Amino acid sequence: MHELSIAEEIYRVSRAAVADHGSGRLERVTVAVGELSAIEPDLLSFAWQALTESGPDAGSTLEVEWHAARQFCAACKSDKPRSDGSWLRLCPDCGTPLAVTGGMELDVMRVTFEPDGGDGAEKGEHDDG
Ligand SMILES: [Zn+2]
Repeated sequence: MHELSIAEEIYRVSRAAVADHGSGRLERVTVAVGELSAIEPDLLSFAWQALTESGPDAGSTLEVEWHAARQFCAACKSDKPRSDGSWLRLCPDCGTPLAVTGGMELDVMRVTFEPDGGDGAEKGEHDDG
């Protein structure tokens, strides 16, 4: 289950983002996950919970923003649908090789955290989007 090592990397990036703003407890992390990244969003969320449940960030949420794969035909100048059951890299209309223009994302988009020692302090937010 490679989702666990990916969750560890997301956690590392998220903690670094919080450290940029001081310190605090992670509340919610939003990641963009593309269809072609070979990641199961459910497994990733599960790995996140397993990773954080015994630490200072227990109860934090990993929110997955799913990005469907997109492929573009330069000749037709339009996105082409994916054929069922296969990943044809040729345009179904004209046979031109298609360019994959989306679906490979794996990015930490946003980190929301509760700052330490905050007395009704604003919630921290780090936005890479
Ligand atoms: Zn075409």
